[in-house]
Amino acid sequence: GEKEPTNLNALTEEFLSMSYQSFLAKEPEFTCELKTKLDPDIPKISVIPQDIGKVLLNLFNNAFYALNEKAKSSADNDSYKGYQPEVTVKTTVARSTSGDLGIEISVKDNGNGIPEHIREKIFQPFFTTKPTGSGTGLGLSLSYDIVKAHGGELLAESEEGKGTKLIIQLPNL
Ligand code: ADP
Ligand code: MG
Repeated sequence: GEKEPTNLNALTEEFLSMSYQSFLAKEPEFTCELKTKLDPDIPKISVIPQDIGKVLLNLFNNAFYALNEKAKSSADNDSYKGYQPEVTVKTTVARSTSGDLGIEISVKDNGNGIPEHIREKIFQPFFTTKPTGSGTGLGLSLSYDIVKAHGGELLAESEEGKGTKLIIQLPNL
């Protein structure tokens, strides 16, 4: 793929619905609320759209998986009574950690979160907590490489039991 000026709001919406549809095809029982807060003022930025699309797909799939696990366990766990799975996707104009002005895309879920002791490993190739056949452990490591290749950062924030937020920061190069 080639870099081209890209409307990341449109790309985000396209990949969110596509990722949700393909997750539902495998997990027909799953439902989740999709919330989007897309800043109409973000500039078009130069990215390889297929590659950033892959990153979004990976983050959405991870979120849906986490939500589905929690939803399934809520059936026999009273403390999850009334649980409503939710993904919130936001875009904003933002300064990256290196101080450049760019954009940020965040993907937040209210799944079970990432335990503290594995948080530093999630970007390593082949690290997975999923059963054989459900995960390769390559999604976040590939995503990290793609975002880095665009001069950006991929960050994770998580609170155990409450959920996870992955943040893609991209400079406006
Ligand atoms: P895979 O999805 O194949 O396991 P990834 O590289 O995409 O590989 O993710 C690595 C691990 O990071 C997952 O197995 C999981 O333990 C953790 N993880 C990633 N995203 C989330 C999330 N949204 N909620 C909870 N855990 C997550
Ligand atoms: Mg994954």
